[in-house]
Amino acid sequence: MKQQQHALFEAEPDPWRLDDDPIVVADVVFAAGPTGTYTYRVPERLLKSAEPGRRVRAPFGRGNRLVTGYCVEVAARAIDRRRLKDISGVVDDQALLSPAMLRLTRWIAEHYLCEWGQALEAVLPAGVRGKAGTRVATFLEISDQGRAALATEKLPKKQKQALAVLADEARALAPNELASLAGCTLAPIAALRSRHYIRTVHKRVKTGELRKRPTEKPEKLHLNVDQQAALDLIVASIHARRHEVILLHGVTGSGKTEVYIRAIEEAVAFGRTAIVLVPEISLTPQTVARFRTRFPGVAVLHSHQTDAERHWHWEEIAAERVQVVVGPRSAIFAPIPHLGLIVLDEEHESSFKQETTPRYHARDVALRRAADENIPLVLGSATPSLESWHRAREGAYRLVEMPRRVFDRPMPDVVTIDMLSAQQGRPRRSALSAPLTKAMEQALDTGGQVILLLNRRGFATHIQCPSCALVVRCPRCDIALIHHRQQEIALCHYCDYQIPPPTECPECRFAGIAYGGIGTERLEAEVRTRFANYSCLRMDTDAMRGPGAHERALDKFRHGEVQILLGTQMIAKGLDFPNVTLVGVVNADIALHLPDFRASERTFQILSQVAGRTGRGEKGGRVLVQTLNPHHPSIEAAARHDFQGFATVELEGRRALGYPPFGELIRVIVRGEQQPQVESFAEHLVSELTGALSGEAPPWRVLGPALAPIAKLRGEYRYHLQLQGHDGDALRRAVRKVTAAAQPPEGILWAVDVDPTSML
Ligand code: ADP
Ligand code: ZN
Repeated sequence: MKQQQHALFEAEPDPWRLDDDPIVVADVVFAAGPTGTYTYRVPERLLKSAEPGRRVRAPFGRGNRLVTGYCVEVAARAIDRRRLKDISGVVDDQALLSPAMLRLTRWIAEHYLCEWGQALEAVLPAGVRGKAGTRVATFLEISDQGRAALATEKLPKKQKQALAVLADEARALAPNELASLAGCTLAPIAALRSRHYIRTVHKRVKTGELRKRPTEKPEKLHLNVDQQAALDLIVASIHARRHEVILLHGVTGSGKTEVYIRAIEEAVAFGRTAIVLVPEISLTPQTVARFRTRFPGVAVLHSHQTDAERHWHWEEIAAERVQVVVGPRSAIFAPIPHLGLIVLDEEHESSFKQETTPRYHARDVALRRAADENIPLVLGSATPSLESWHRAREGAYRLVEMPRRVFDRPMPDVVTIDMLSAQQGRPRRSALSAPLTKAMEQALDTGGQVILLLNRRGFATHIQCPSCALVVRCPRCDIALIHHRQQEIALCHYCDYQIPPPTECPECRFAGIAYGGIGTERLEAEVRTRFANYSCLRMDTDAMRGPGAHERALDKFRHGEVQILLGTQMIAKGLDFPNVTLVGVVNADIALHLPDFRASERTFQILSQVAGRTGRGEKGGRVLVQTLNPHHPSIEAAARHDFQGFATVELEGRRALGYPPFGELIRVIVRGEQQPQVESFAEHLVSELTGALSGEAPPWRVLGPALAPIAKLRGEYRYHLQLQGHDGDALRRAVRKVTAAAQPPEGILWAVDVDPTSML
């Protein structure tokens, strides 16, 4: 901005355009309400403070209502000044967003088809916007009159002392501070104020406090050959100061985290910093401690933090007191200076995608930020997303493989149990087949621990009348209610609607209504009965309510107080417990038949990840997988630890259908209470979008509309449609054009999801 101002003052005005002298203007984007960018004049008194990245107050509309917006550009422009209003004030003392972050948010808005203001709001934590954890406090300085008075006037002793203290002090003092330094009460200070010998200034002060660092000594590990090779490659890229994406494909337990840490150490040694993105669930104290023992300034961000804590971290980061930021997807927006490296661990995780506007994917934002700041991005996973894998195979990313576990520990044996034959002739009452029960006994008898995965919460997963076949559903959502025995409710997992568990059919009044299907609660009950001599712990969102519950549970398991840990996908990820000698997958088929083109990929990933929880110690380990589809390619590939084989087959299928990574995808969801209206508006959108795309180069297509897999949610019907094509920008152009013109009937809402990960 300074340069622009200089240019303004130094440039000779063009003699033929004297009327149109450039004036300093600010482009302002509002977070809510008016969309688009608005230009204001910057009045003389705000020339110093108006700066891109700060928020300003500006009059809007006929009534000149004052609205807060983000200043995104300040420039000298020859522009008709009579048409411009003045900004009326600048909110922030310093820029909240760097030019790089402004560019990043703008890209988010363009790529994900949202408003720039929405992207800006997403980047700034609420605590930063609201300055949470800070308060405005009053400080005192000596005034010019005060200085003169001190030299010439005869003042009462206490007043003179206080004034002398202030005169000596380089900084402004709080009233209490001054009183104690001068050894007086507040009365003489008040007297000095009323005589204008003391001036008051207002400053924001923090109420936060530094979190203590653990004092453990870091373990110095000797990297193995694969780790060293991976590290060398990343380090070369850091030193070359070039942008590059490195896909680190390392099997579970191959020591990826150690490679990240070494690479960051290297960056930090050169005065640079790093961001490490991890799925929220992996933000365990163990992970955090691994970073804290290796770096003096680690900021850990997570979603349970208070606004004040987040604000505090934000300021520590901006003040250059932090070398490493560790956090979930939103940590990609950390305002860290001198960024030298971004690491995204478990890059395949769908939790990196935000499911509310702006629906960004942290991996793609990280890619953008790394390219913009000209630094390497490391994507790590044992089961890379097919998107990243494909790009690595094509040569767009560097691929580094770590195919072996540390100490050359073998991958666990994985055996599938065909539940169709295992259950022949017997009613399906039990969650655990005979082979799994036996394997558990063996593992426990020999002092090992067991992890059981069942990705379904609740006790019974459907309540159905055997007489009239009615399934008890949520009246607001098109979804069966799940019986939770602990709370004695039948619960909708989408909207939390709940009723007492019915004892008779709500339709035909048949008294023998049946509770079927097995959720984690029921599995827990079964395990407790069968393995009464061992201690068992359930881990799912119901059991892990409250802060620290997850941690306490893992601690118990780590210390051997608990021998059997069972739960949902929460237990499948990242845990490193050498004593786990058996992993049992109770039902591998849950995700397999979801109407989602990534169903096979998800199944492969979760099986590989949970299998990776065993065989991490000297005792080795094995995995039993119960399934009705033992020959499904994803399940067979997971059992062979064959990521490449899986990816090759799966990518062929994607190519044939034009799904990512072979085409871009935009999903539009239309919802409303009146089904016919929703459907007809969705049809209208399809024809508009088809029209808008008709000028674009093929291949592209618009699929739908169709009822969404979750056809009704919270009382609203849902239809969806998909735009597919090779040129994502062409799809975006079409959506933007149609969005601008579309006028949905009252009560109809629609959402655009670019690069969707959820297809439900
Ligand atoms: P990943 O992230 O690939 O699953 P981790 O980085 O968590 O693997 O490493 C698994 C375990 O192996 C950790 O307990 C880690 O401390 C240990 N480890 C990693 N690298 C080495 C090494 N070079 N020598 C010995 N132990 C290692
Ligand atoms: Zn519901």
